[in-house]
Amino acid sequence: MNGCIFCAIVAGEAPATKIFEDDTLVAFLDIRPITRGHTLVIPKSHASDLDHLDPELGGVLFGFGHRLAKAMRRGGLAADGANLLINDGKAAFQTVHHVHLHVIPRHSGDILRFARGFVLRRPHDRDSTAAAIRSGLDRLADEEKAV
Ligand code: AMP
Ligand code: ZN
Repeated sequence: MNGCIFCAIVAGEAPATKIFEDDTLVAFLDIRPITRGHTLVIPKSHASDLDHLDPELGGVLFGFGHRLAKAMRRGGLAADGANLLINDGKAAFQTVHHVHLHVIPRHSGDILRFARGFVLRRPHDRDSTAAAIRSGLDRLADEEKAV
């Protein structure tokens, strides 16, 4: 193993509350969330930063982040929006050097809660939070089937 915690999550050797997984990506709850439902989307193959990430994979990564942002509006989280963010490189405060896209659900008027979350980074109930996001993914899939 290369000592990368996110590679260990991909390999199932470190714990994570996974929201979604396919051959290319894994999405799981951030262990120190800013808001409830703060999720990280990562490529399964290790790339330390955007300089080392296949651009097509970057597109796929964002594509799933986009999908998650839509799911967070629809499911139990009932978000009004989301912040999507990549800290790319130490200079940009990247602390885990395996590319990851933060998807941080937001609610209208949540600025004080967001600021408190940004400082405290306390976990919420993981199972119910994951279920709330998954319910949004299911609703999104139902909507897509209906058109
Ligand atoms: P950054 O590299 O600054 O973009 O952020 C790394 C993020 O990874 C932080 O939000 C951490 O809380 C999160 N994190 C670090 N280790 C884990 C882990 N084992 N499981 C889930 N999230 C993690
Ligand atoms: Zn890695």
